[in-house]
Amino acid sequence: MLVTGDDLLKVANQHSFAIPAFNISDWAMNRGIFEIGEELQSPLLIAIHPDELAHLGDELVLAIRERAHRSSVPVAIHFDHGATIDQMLWAIQSGFTSVMLDGSMLPFDENVDLTRRAVEAAHAVGLSVEGELGTIGKTDSEAEDGADEIIYTKPEEAVKFVEATGVDSLAIAIGTSHGIYPSWMKPELKLDLLRDIKAAVSVPLVLHGGSNNPDAEIGQAAKMGINKINISSDIKVAYHVKMREVLADGSVREPNTIQPPAVEAMKAEAAHKIRLFGSDGKASLY
Ligand SMILES: [Zn+2]
Repeated sequence: MLVTGDDLLKVANQHSFAIPAFNISDWAMNRGIFEIGEELQSPLLIAIHPDELAHLGDELVLAIRERAHRSSVPVAIHFDHGATIDQMLWAIQSGFTSVMLDGSMLPFDENVDLTRRAVEAAHAVGLSVEGELGTIGKTDSEAEDGADEIIYTKPEEAVKFVEATGVDSLAIAIGTSHGIYPSWMKPELKLDLLRDIKAAVSVPLVLHGGSNNPDAEIGQAAKMGINKINISSDIKVAYHVKMREVLADGSVREPNTIQPPAVEAMKAEAAHKIRLFGSDGKASLY
């Protein structure tokens, strides 16, 4: 069934697990994510970033809605990293059922102002908004935006931000970055900071840049109150590593020959994340 982001995350918050938000960039990936979510009976967020939406064409959102209506698990279609109110309204008009407005690179007061206006507009049509406070890093040129340096979310600012904006869920910076970490960089989550933020605010918490962090830390974060984890790089790496392998055979031509093995490799990675986040079998809670 097709649901809103709020419907999904409330239950995850009550039951202390995290729902994966998988960024998809083509229809084959989208099908694969639906299949693995259904196989493992996991609620799903299909995440699409503005750059991905420009690549896909917004007509495809209607097809994803159709697929979600027929799904055996609850699915929300999430607009990832909206930058402006106009962009967010475009997403809502296109059929998304969950939106993010990311003002995290702005000064605190401007972030509050932008997010509050986004919340007013989205609530008017029954949708919820994810905001972001603190800045996560960015580790490579292919990654979504992020700062060169992580600015950790402060619990007291998180309280102020949620109160002032009425935001429905909050992405926080506790040590992740967008992209794949270079070999010299050892990512580490501040789980004590997560504990403090969770104790201070009641809205569901979100982790971006969750690809490529140690499994044990990510699994622990999901148990400690992270309710949505964005996964983009890890599934795309799995997809394209396998695709390169298939393409090494210069005689292959048909997408229906080339894509299925790549989709299977992506599904295996997605299944690992679903289990790590404790989201498998949770569709029955809805
Ligand atoms: Zn992100």
